[in-house]
Amino acid sequence: MTDAEKKALKAAHNKKYRDANKELIAANQKKYREANKELVRERKRAYREVNKERIAAKKAADAKTERGRKLDKLRGERYRTTHAERVRELHQKSRDKRAPIAKQEAKQRRVELRDSYVAQILRMPTDLVPPEVIEAERIRLKIKRKVQELDNDRTEKKCSTCREYKPLISFGRNHGTKDGRSYECRLCNRERKRRDALLKGLTFNPRNRDEFGRVRKHTPEELKTAKNAHAREVYARNKQRRNYETHK
Ligand SMILES: [Zn+2]
Repeated sequence: MTDAEKKALKAAHNKKYRDANKELIAANQKKYREANKELVRERKRAYREVNKERIAAKKAADAKTERGRKLDKLRGERYRTTHAERVRELHQKSRDKRAPIAKQEAKQRRVELRDSYVAQILRMPTDLVPPEVIEAERIRLKIKRKVQELDNDRTEKKCSTCREYKPLISFGRNHGTKDGRSYECRLCNRERKRRDALLKGLTFNPRNRDEFGRVRKHTPEELKTAKNAHAREVYARNKQRRNYETHK
């Protein structure tokens, strides 16, 4: 018997033993890991450190195949279920780390009240506005911003035309404003449009809108011809239907 043959025989024997005593071996391994937690962790870390590049390459290769991605997902799920506490801790940690940055970013996003900006609000060249006026305007803008902040969670709003306080639903949608609602209430808005239309000799019908949702305005003549055309259309349709019914 040669050495190679001996080796093969031994391997086969070992395999047979492992297959027969699977549970016993697993239990022993678990017991060992439990008893030598620190040591096992240290060894794993050392292994990862030595095989860094190989592991990274394997990960990159896995990310390219469907099976690899699936396995990675499964691994992640398993880790999250077995280490729920740790995952929660990490989440909280990243959130805590992120909070001041997010706050800072929100602050930066708001326009700074520089002299030039304040002068722009006053519609004057910066060097022509006296410094005390700039300071006063800056304070006014600051107060306005504070009020707007406080106003953000309100349920009522004052109409800029009739000066009445009304629930937010009484104000039409307007993407240009901070709260997404119009400045004036629906009633005032409708009245204003009707008045404008009358001044131009047009009729205003709030329910009559074109395909873009814009209010349609017609001269009385236009309205008449449109009505006539519609009536003709309806008449023709009904006539066709009648003919169809009689010839069936
Ligand atoms: Zn109003």
